[in-house]
Amino acid sequence: TTQIKLHDCAKTFADGTRALAPFDLEITGGETVVLLGPSGCGKTTILRMIAGLEFPDAGGKITFDGDDVTRQSIEKRRVGMVFQSYALFPNMSVAQNVAYGLKVHGVGRDERDARVTAMLEMMHIDMLADRAIDQLSGGQRQRVALARAIAVQPRVLLLDEPLTALDAKLRVRLRTEINGLLRKLGITAVYVTHDQEEAMALGDRIVVMQKGKIAQIGTPREIYRKPQSPFVADFVGAANRLDGQMHDGRLHIGERVFDAVDAFDPRHGDIIDQGPVELYFRADGLSTCEAGDADFTGRVEAVSYLGERLRLTVSGIGSMPVIVDTHPDDVISAGTPVHCRVNADRLTVFPAV
Ligand code: ADP
Ligand code: MG
Repeated sequence: TTQIKLHDCAKTFADGTRALAPFDLEITGGETVVLLGPSGCGKTTILRMIAGLEFPDAGGKITFDGDDVTRQSIEKRRVGMVFQSYALFPNMSVAQNVAYGLKVHGVGRDERDARVTAMLEMMHIDMLADRAIDQLSGGQRQRVALARAIAVQPRVLLLDEPLTALDAKLRVRLRTEINGLLRKLGITAVYVTHDQEEAMALGDRIVVMQKGKIAQIGTPREIYRKPQSPFVADFVGAANRLDGQMHDGRLHIGERVFDAVDAFDPRHGDIIDQGPVELYFRADGLSTCEAGDADFTGRVEAVSYLGERLRLTVSGIGSMPVIVDTHPDDVISAGTPVHCRVNADRLTVFPAV
C-alpha cells in the first residue's frame, strides 16, 4: 500500500484563480482519506494533483512512498479514478470497459479474462458482462467504473463524488459496498464528497476544506465532536447556535450558569476564561424535561415525526430557533411551551467574533 505526501502544494490556475493555498497532507498507506467541503473549495483540484492531471505551483512536492512524482504523468503514477459522471466507453460492453485498462497495460488475454471476471464478481455485476453501457442504470454504471478502476491494481484509488448522481437509497447501499471494498483491498484511497454523512461513513480520516484551505483534519469522531471552528461545526451538522458569556471559566447562557465546559480558542489553543462566546451544538445539546429541571422554557414552533425520534423546532431560547429531539412516542403539539435542559458537554464553545 502506498503512502502519499503532499508538501507545500498550492494551485493557481492560468486565469489567475487561486484554487488552493499552500498546504501539507500525509496519507498513510491503506488509509481512506475523505476530502469534505462545499462546492468550489478545491477538493477536485487536490484529487487531480494526486492523479497527475494538474501540477502544483512551483515549490510544491508530491511523493508516493518517498518517490517524487510531482511532475509525473497520470500513466506513470498508476492511479485508479472514479468520477461522478461515469466516463465509461459507451460503444463497448461492460466486460470490454473493465478489460480496457488491462489491455493498455499489456496484460495478456487469459490473465485479462480472469481479472475481468473477478472484478465483475466483486462488484456483483458478473451477469451484466456483455451488456452495453447505455442499457445500465446509474448504479450499475458506477459499479462498472469501480471495477474498471481497480482492475489495473492501482497504487492509489481516487474517487470524486462517485455517488452524487445516484438516488438516496442507492447511494447508501453503494457507499456501504465501497466501504467493504476499500477495507478488503486495503488500498490507499482518497474520496471526495460534499456530503458529511458519506464522509463519516467512509473516512478513516476526514479533511474538511473551506475556500481552498484545510479547515481541519481528524477522524470522523474528532471532526464530529471536536470541531475546531464554527465553519466545521456548521458543516458537519451542528445546526444550533446560542450566544453565551464566559465569566471566570464558567459558561453563562442568559441567567443560567454551567460548569465543566471545554472552551478553547481554536486559533491559539488558549482556554477562554472571559468574554462573549458562540455555542454550536446538535439536537442532543438540549433535552426536554420537567419544569423543575429546566434551564429554559421555550415554545414549540414545529414538530416533525422522524420515526426513531420526534424533532421539535423551539423558539424563545436564543435569538434563533433551535432543534431539540425527543422520544417519538411523546405527544407534543406546535404552539405549546416546552421545558429544556442544557447538556453542557455537548456544546462546542467558540469565541464570539
Ligand atoms: P470542488 O471540487 O471542491 O468543487 P474545484 O477543485 O473543482 O472545487 O475548484 C476549486 C476552484 O478552482 C473553484 O473556484 C473553481 O472554479 C476553480 N477552478 C477549477 N478548475 C479550474 C481551471 N481549470 N481553471 C480555472 N479555475 C478553475
Ligand atoms: Mg469537485
